Amino acid sequence: MRLANKVAVVTGASRGIGRAIALRLAEDGAAVVVNYKNSGDAAQAVVQEIESQGGRAVALQADVANLSDVRRLFEEVERTFAHIDILVNNAGWADFKPLENITEEHFDTLFNLNVRGLLFTTQEAVKRMNDQGRVINISSGITRANAAGGSVYSGSKAAVEAFTRCWAAELGPRGITVNTVSPGMTQTDLMTEVIPAESLDAMIAQTPLGRLGQPADIADVVAFLCSDEARWLTAQNLLVNGGVG
Ligand code: NAP
Repeated sequence: MRLANKVAVVTGASRGIGRAIALRLAEDGAAVVVNYKNSGDAAQAVVQEIESQGGRAVALQADVANLSDVRRLFEEVERTFAHIDILVNNAGWADFKPLENITEEHFDTLFNLNVRGLLFTTQEAVKRMNDQGRVINISSGITRANAAGGSVYSGSKAAVEAFTRCWAAELGPRGITVNTVSPGMTQTDLMTEVIPAESLDAMIAQTPLGRLGQPADIADVVAFLCSDEARWLTAQNLLVNGGVG
């Protein structure tokens, strides 16, 4: 129970990687805010799973890309738990388009959630965060790849990685660590939507460990970063991708 008495907010925790992170942090004893945008039933199922194992959780709806939703979310978190110890900025979206097909809508959708939303979520969270807190930003291995069609998504995640390093410097005096976790290809709804099924075998072949990532593979690393054992790690980007170069 290394996170006993800690309060964790996980954005986008109704499905995929965020869901696995919420379950894992609860297993370590944290009270967890399961944020979601649309999937209320799925978020409630995550809460029930945590409660059935003796943990504490609440599902809170908020579109992280919408600043007034973000403010409402943290007012509710403060009313429910009084303070925050851990923020996991997981909610994100990916979409691929070659340069000639990029539209303002494509750009705004990705940057409003992955960059603007993440920034203002962090601003609201750290106002209420205890000293020695943790911020974990979920980026993607794409920022290191020459990925045709991925410029806007990769650019949005590159901003996230830059935020991590600046915030680590700003929040270090409070003992708050800020780190990035960059998953490789991980089996979720998002991966199924954006990666053609016929490309998966080639991706697995490029992975030294010879399989796709699972949400729990990412969640275990996030849980480590949240623990006291990771107290001397900040401003880092952990590539959790089975060894893809
Ligand atoms: P996913 O399966 O699509 O799940 C996305 C989660 O985020 C859902 O819980 C969804 O809530 C929530 N969400 C989406 N838009 C939101 C918004 N505007 N406000 C609040 N919540 C929102 O995605 P995933 O694959 O788990 O990805 C999670 C993160 O990992 C993302 O940042 C992604 O870029 C990153 N990542 C994923 C992979 C991969 O291969 N899967 C690889 C690298 C990085 P609802 O259920 O309510 O819609």
